[in-house]
Amino acid sequence: MKFKNYIIYILCFCLQGCGEAKKEQLLQNADPETGFYSLEDFDSVQKYDTHVHINVDDSAFINQAERNNFRLLTINVNPPYYPSIEEQQQVALKLVEAYPQILSYATTFNVANWGSEEWQQQTISYLEKSFGNGAIAVKIWKNIGMDLREKDGQFVMIDNPRFDPILDLIEKNNVTLIGHLGEPRNAWLPIEEMTITGDQSYFAKNPKYHMYLQKDFPSYQDQIDARDRMLVKHPNLKFVGAHLGSLEWNINKLANHFDEFPNVAVDMAARVPHLQFQSIDNREKVRDFIIKYQDRLIYSTDLSVESISNPDELKKTMNDRWVSDWRFFVTDDEMKVSAFSTNLKGLKLPKAVIDKIYRGNAKKWFPSLI
Ligand SMILES: [Zn+2]
Repeated sequence: MKFKNYIIYILCFCLQGCGEAKKEQLLQNADPETGFYSLEDFDSVQKYDTHVHINVDDSAFINQAERNNFRLLTINVNPPYYPSIEEQQQVALKLVEAYPQILSYATTFNVANWGSEEWQQQTISYLEKSFGNGAIAVKIWKNIGMDLREKDGQFVMIDNPRFDPILDLIEKNNVTLIGHLGEPRNAWLPIEEMTITGDQSYFAKNPKYHMYLQKDFPSYQDQIDARDRMLVKHPNLKFVGAHLGSLEWNINKLANHFDEFPNVAVDMAARVPHLQFQSIDNREKVRDFIIKYQDRLIYSTDLSVESISNPDELKKTMNDRWVSDWRFFVTDDEMKVSAFSTNLKGLKLPKAVIDKIYRGNAKKWFPSLI
């Protein structure tokens, strides 16, 4: 009898002990604070890219996103070299209808008619129609602040009171405003002083936006200040600053901006290289910054397509961009990027942070995102 009890005791102890050890191991694997993704996890983790421009009714872009487990926000925007905003919207609506499980779209509005009495009402009608069609966000672009002028030649900035009823409408509809306002600070430097090859080639090709050459245009700080004054007027507007909110060059400034405006997040579109650049000398600082502001940063690329002559090349470009960024955020690999010649080391961010940057924050800041 005694012996039997002893056996039972041992059995119980063993079961309990083994159970605890197993539970511990399971917890460790499941704990996103301590767990990390690997390069191989890239396709299996569901992700968002919230800043792309698909301006052609073709499935190649979306097929590649599906293969890499990305959902997309395609953004209508109004640069002079894009199709009209009505055409962009038509393409977006067609694709959203065909791929409702992958694609959402952001609308925009025209400012060409700014000088007319009807501009406000026309804009409100256009946006109301877009919201009715399912647009989940509105994009405003750097032409406000860098191109649009009053009759007397003054630049129209985003804190102009004529925008207020438009911004109120966006807020009332629980739609997110995506603001590309200003430019990277590199735009105010001579080409050879710019930090990133992408900026060097863009501003060499687009001297109109190379502010170093446009001495009578608003300054970098004028752009930032106008944007901030607009945010002060609209504290309940959900605002996503495109391109790291044009504060890409200095994570301290971006941290201050987040502290000052709790209703603001930023997307990383075309500005991951600026985080990488700052990480060359200060990897831990950049890593700590991303961990501290893990609720405010949204992964995106600015990948865009106007026409598809070579779908394989497009797919390769997309895959390479997405995998390279994943590698930077997820691993601690030594790596080369195309934006500058210095090697860098990946940030190896915890799973929980990666999940927010690649998925959770997109859903939080764009509540109607698919
Ligand atoms: Zn863009």
